[in-house]
Amino acid sequence: MKANVWHGRNDMRVENVPDPRILNPRDAIVKITSSAICGSDLHLYDGYVPTMEAGDILGHEFMGEVVETGPAVRNLKAGDRVVVPFTIACGGCFFCEQQQHSLCENSNPNAWMAEKMWGHSPAGIFGYSHLTGGYAGGQAQYARVPYADTGPLKIEDGLDDEQVLFLSDVLPTGWMAAENCHIQPGDTVAIWGCGPVGQFAIQSAYLLGAERVIAIDRFPDRLQMASDWSRAEALDYTACDVADTLREMTGGRGPDACIDAVGMEAHGAGPMAAVDRIKQMMRLESDRPMVLRQVLRACRNGGTVSVPGVYGGFVDKLPFGALMNRSLTLKTGQTHVQRYMQPLLERIRRGDFDPGRLVTHRKRLDDAPDAYRMFRDKQDGCVKVVLKPWVH
Ligand code: NAD
Ligand code: ZN
Ligand code: ZN
Repeated sequence: MKANVWHGRNDMRVENVPDPRILNPRDAIVKITSSAICGSDLHLYDGYVPTMEAGDILGHEFMGEVVETGPAVRNLKAGDRVVVPFTIACGGCFFCEQQQHSLCENSNPNAWMAEKMWGHSPAGIFGYSHLTGGYAGGQAQYARVPYADTGPLKIEDGLDDEQVLFLSDVLPTGWMAAENCHIQPGDTVAIWGCGPVGQFAIQSAYLLGAERVIAIDRFPDRLQMASDWSRAEALDYTACDVADTLREMTGGRGPDACIDAVGMEAHGAGPMAAVDRIKQMMRLESDRPMVLRQVLRACRNGGTVSVPGVYGGFVDKLPFGALMNRSLTLKTGQTHVQRYMQPLLERIRRGDFDPGRLVTHRKRLDDAPDAYRMFRDKQDGCVKVVLKPWVH
């Protein structure tokens, strides 16, 4: 089959690789009809996630048609249409039983690597380095899906791929980011990053009862999307002092909750940002925590900071004193996708979300390397690219 393969920093290639096979009784093989590129993939592309190996197949937001099932998979059969959650989870361990699927104790065969780096291991993830299992991803024509008897969501009505594809990741991620804010009626939520995760976090915050949402980014088309689709108040961080402006907009108190939907590759200006850039380049610091610093300082006393943005390792000069002295709550995590898929599918059916609108570009799998470049550089108004593995 064809797959998008990582070869090193800024080096993706579409190659012929062996077809996946059933390895365990609970596996299924899915023929992929649509596969997206995520902001998280950019961290791999830009070379900031350790334990990637040349030859790794990327992609963790995908869906398609079941073509084969292992003998223990009784709920799916060949021909079923499924969306596959990016977190791989067994469904039966201590964490899965509490619906904390991204912490599954059974799905990361390389748990020892993660334990070395992070103390304990999270779940396995498709196409996301050997630290989280070394699983082949879904920017390919086929994928092996472990625990297929519990993870994938069957799509039985006529909703087209683009309406349901993002249930695999960015829609639940935006939702969980907002849910983690414990929004009360009247609350103001500020959201850094107006990419796909930010856009869904904005919409979710309103659905969960926020009165005001302030959306922060620098790309006019993304800010426009935030205000046009979701009536968010848009802030261009290159045109104002974000901290001062937020203080002014909230009567001096600060937003009730702040969401970092940017993560480890935040952009910034000024001396601190330059130091971060250099340190990250020299591998003295794994992540650039510009936004993390801002959210911790901007949030009102006693408020909640929610971090869906991905961080990999170590960050410098984090104002931990702000968190402690001002009684902030910090919530974060890889998304527990399985927990949210069914309820969010119902919300799509009801019209609360219209995820297909996010798609700005559709590309052949063969064009994946160009698509990565375009998405990374936010060229041509690119917000979300869907790859079509069977279009030639
Ligand atoms: P994206 O690259 O499309 O969007 C990131 C946005 O952040 C861009 O629009 C960029 O302009 C903006 N940005 C950069 N620096 C900023 C700053 N200083 N202030 C405000 N905005 C800034 O990515 P995405 O797909 O929306 O993903 C966003 C983050 O969420 C990434 O870190 C990704 O890895 C993470 N993510 C996490 C999960 C999870 O399970 N927790 C799932 C999916 C994605
Ligand atoms: Zn993702
Ligand atoms: Zn589990």
